[in-house]
This record gives sequence, C-alpha cells and structure tokens, in this order.
Amino acid sequence: MLFSSTRSAYPHVSLLEAAEQGLAPDGGLYLPITQPDVDWETLPSNSFGACSDVFLTQWLGDALIPSQKKELVEEVVQDALNFEVPICFTPETRSYPGLHILELFHGPTLSFKDFGARTLAKLLKARLAQSHQSITILVATSGDTGSAVADGLSGIDGIRVVLLYPDAGVSEVQEKQLITKRKGVLSLRVRGTFDDCQRLVKGAFGQDELVQFNLSTANSINMGRLIPQMLYYVWATRFLGSKQCQFVVPSGNLGNLTAGVLANLSGMPVTGFIAAHNQNDFFPRYKKSPDATFGTTVKTLSNAMDVGAPSNFERLQSLSAASDLMSRIEAISLTDEQTLFHMSQFHAETGYVADPHTAVGIGAAASLNAKAGPIVVLSTAHPAKFPDIVQQATSITPEVPAQLARLDHLPTRVVDFDPAQNKLADVLLAHKWD
Ligand SMILES: *Cc1c(COP(=O)(O)O)cnc(C)c1O
Repeated sequence: MLFSSTRSAYPHVSLLEAAEQGLAPDGGLYLPITQPDVDWETLPSNSFGACSDVFLTQWLGDALIPSQKKELVEEVVQDALNFEVPICFTPETRSYPGLHILELFHGPTLSFKDFGARTLAKLLKARLAQSHQSITILVATSGDTGSAVADGLSGIDGIRVVLLYPDAGVSEVQEKQLITKRKGVLSLRVRGTFDDCQRLVKGAFGQDELVQFNLSTANSINMGRLIPQMLYYVWATRFLGSKQCQFVVPSGNLGNLTAGVLANLSGMPVTGFIAAHNQNDFFPRYKKSPDATFGTTVKTLSNAMDVGAPSNFERLQSLSAASDLMSRIEAISLTDEQTLFHMSQFHAETGYVADPHTAVGIGAAASLNAKAGPIVVLSTAHPAKFPDIVQQATSITPEVPAQLARLDHLPTRVVDFDPAQNKLADVLLAHKWD
C-alpha cells in the first residue's frame, strides 16, 4: 500500500515517508493510491479499541511489514488512543431530531485533535527508528492543533516541536495549554495574526540556514493525522448496529470530513455527510456553485474552524474526481449568533452542554433534511475549553476536567516574538533544546 500526491501520480511513498514529509514535494497532499477494502462484517462492535484494532490492521494492508504493523497498531490503539470515545443520545425535542453525539474530546488536550497528533507521534517514532534522523515539527496554530501536537510529540527522542500562535487569537484556556512547558517543545507567541504564523511556517521551509532542522509540519495536511480519524466514524457506525448514519462534522480545514470520506470509500456505509461551517463558508458556497473561491479568514466564536482556504478541499476534489462522492456531502454555514442560539436552545431542551464548535454541528443538524437512520454529530471539543462562551449562552460554568486542572500546577515557557522571517531562524538556531 503506497501513497501519492493529489497533484501528480509519482513518486509513490510509503506510509511512514508520507507521515514524515507532511506535504508532498510538489505541494500536493498525500492520499492512498487505491482505497483499501475492509471486510465490514469482521469488525467488533463491543469496544472502540477492539473495532479500531481490526479496522486499522485491515486498512493498512501491506503498508508495513507484518511485525512492524502489529506493533504500530498496538501502540496506536492501546497507547495513543487510550481514552474514552463515548456516544451520547439526546432524544427528539421540539427543535431537534434525536441526535447521537460522538464525543471526541476526552483526550489529554480535550479536542479531537488528540487522535491525529498522538497517532502521528507513533508514526514518526517508527520512521525515525528506520532513518536515524531527527525532525523538527513546525506548527502554526489558532487553537487546538498546537497543544495536541505539543502534548502528543513531546519527549520523543529525535523530535522537536515549534508552535507559533497569534497573541490575541486564542482563548485563555487554549493559551494555557499551548505554553505549558514540555520537553522538546518551543512555544512562540507571535505579535500578529494566525496568517502571520502560517506565513512564517511556510517561509521557514525555504530557508537554507534551517535545512539542518529537517523541518516538517503536523497540520491536517499530514496523512498520518487522518488515519486515526477514520476509526471513530467506523466505531460509531458499528456501535449503532451498522445502520447507515448521517454524520454532521463541524469543519474548518475539512480534515475530519475527509477522514470520514476515506472510511466510506473503504466500505463504511453512510447515508451522507454534512460539513457544518461557521462564517468561513467557502465549502458551503462551493456546494452551491462550483466557481466559488476561497475567502479570507474571519474570526468567529468557533476559532478552530476559522479557515478561509481549507487545505483538505484538494483531497476531497481528488477523491471525488472518479466517484459520486460529492453527492453524499452537504454543507451548511452558521453565524455566531446562530451558534449561540443553538448552544442555548439545545441545552434548554436536552440538558446537553456543547462547546461552540459542536454547537455549529448541532445547529446544522436542526436544519437537516432528515434521512432514515441515526444522525451522528461529531463533538470536537470539550465545553470547558470555552468557558466564557458557554456561560454566555447557557449560564452554565462547565466543570473543569482533570486534564485542564492539572495545568495550573505546571510551569510554563513561551517566547514573545515579532513576525519576521529572519527572527524565526535566529530563535530556532539560538534555542537551547532540552
Ligand atoms: C480543528 C477543529 C475543527 C475543524 O476540523 P477540520 O479537520 O479542520 O475540519 C473543529 N472543531 C474543533 C474543536 C477543532 O479543533
């Protein structure tokens, strides 16, 4: 099983090479050359771990030699994804159909990004054991990616992480998670915007003096992050009796949606997908008219979905070129006002407290053309990450989970930093890595 870029048929690379490189050399995104077939009937329905073990083993096919595959699957399923993946049911009410809420926020940094980041750590570890190199992961982050990557990759021999985040662009809780001192991690608080951070990361890849760092990225362009994100779609479908589900996916970069699509193309039955966006609505506009163009990023309450130009759109286009995939995907966009309204109304009618990202999905679910079969809303972040917004909408102060409470007692480390390319190189070269 090999991977190639969305932009050219060659070269073909292995799974571990794709994970190490992140972006393909031609600027495209890696996808499997052919979609692996999984024997649906063999998947256990008793636990997330058991189901994931069998699915992943079959999906990876001959991507790795058997002993290496066995070890990797075990590490991913037992060690990386060692947290609960509960499915809560909220019955039909006046305004909402019955919803299954697939809670993906019980990992160490309380967002679904933990699935991708913690799995990527295992893939990179396996790759570095082969190549005996070291690697530096640069991540521009506006919210949850940075802390998940820092937490997942910290302390692994040969891996260093550099996070760049905008000084005014993240919530207080998110910042606390970003600057917690971790071995091998350097956090840079950029006096600028998320776009400045992204520009710096892109620019660093062309800088000669940084070649020695063997730079890579861990944004959702990395194929290694999408693989574990298939597992919870598969698990939910299996858990719900293999009925065809309609999945509602709070979306930004469209990575999570793409993972669901990959599971579907490997045999998971669905009635369809709904991409639920905030005011960064390129994809809903595209679904109305194929000549839609990317927008500039606007700031919203669901900040991890503030993406004007979703990078995984290129994957969706490539996957749909030869199939009727796009006809199974709908897309909806909600304003901040609608998001707050649904957070409040859904809480009043069902008692369920959702974070702003999940609330976009719940709002989208309320306006669905209901199809037969369960509706599954992916819940992408814990409400305690956004206490002020949740309080404003529901008057509830979300309970602080242990993963957050413990940060109050940990040391922090952050470097303030002006968004200039040569300064980034200076900081990296001068930093004393632990
Ligand atoms: C990253 C993120 C999203 C968007 O996911 P994509 O894969 O970028 O579409 C949604 N919700 C939360 C909480 C996130 O952190």
